[in-house]
Amino acid sequence: MWRATVLTIFPEMFPGPLGLSLAGKALQGGLWAFDAVDIRDHATDRHRSVDDTPAGGGPGMVMKADVLARAIDFASAEPDARPRLLLSPRGAPLTQRRIVELAGGAGAVILCGRFEGVDERVIEARRLEEVSLGDFVLSGGEIAALALIDACVRLLPGVMGKQASGAEESFADGLLEYPHYTRPQLFEGRPIPDILTSGDHGRIAAWRRAQAERLTQTRRPDLWAARRAPFPAKPGKSK
Ligand code: SAH
Repeated sequence: MWRATVLTIFPEMFPGPLGLSLAGKALQGGLWAFDAVDIRDHATDRHRSVDDTPAGGGPGMVMKADVLARAIDFASAEPDARPRLLLSPRGAPLTQRRIVELAGGAGAVILCGRFEGVDERVIEARRLEEVSLGDFVLSGGEIAALALIDACVRLLPGVMGKQASGAEESFADGLLEYPHYTRPQLFEGRPIPDILTSGDHGRIAAWRRAQAERLTQTRRPDLWAARRAPFPAKPGKSK
């Protein structure tokens, strides 16, 4: 079963929102498993310290390599097929591609940073994969961990049914999703585009595709440029 283990100094933040809605039902239904490890339980002094002042000076505190290593070794005793992730603004920005990979695996061991971050040596020694939620700074890795797990869990078999098949969602084929409409037919003078009520499924699909392409080109030129063309650019020249 897909299993997330989160290492944190705030285990009471979990499962939090993941205990509600579809993820929560799936958790209760045994479609995935979750456990939180309190990093403080692995401290060695009587103050249960997890952080210390930065070598070289500067503001803030740094999470201690020895304490984190003990927590990781406890949470992920070998052999554990799950990747060990460290939430970090320095990490590779998470993409739907990586989420699909993670959801297809055995789960994840997820370390949440706090303070200024973690001692570099534990990242090396435990081969942590640094992943980021985006180019902004959170006060801790916990909210990022919740986001990462949520994105994985909704893809697990049986959690969302047809909706999350992924085939039509944003990023599924390198495009943002087309716009949605529902009743009423007229909202503040704005009608639903005629084509969507035409019943012509071929034209609807073509319209949605064109909208998705237009949105991607204008909003995310980076995605548009990186997109693998679905057909050879010059017919006859391929393969
Ligand atoms: N001093 C660090 C920021 C520390 S923020 C720096 O300048 O890079 C404290 C913790 O919050 C980090 O260790 C990390 O676990 C988490 N965090 C902050 N921003 C994040 C982001 N964009 N993605 C994932 N985790 C983040």
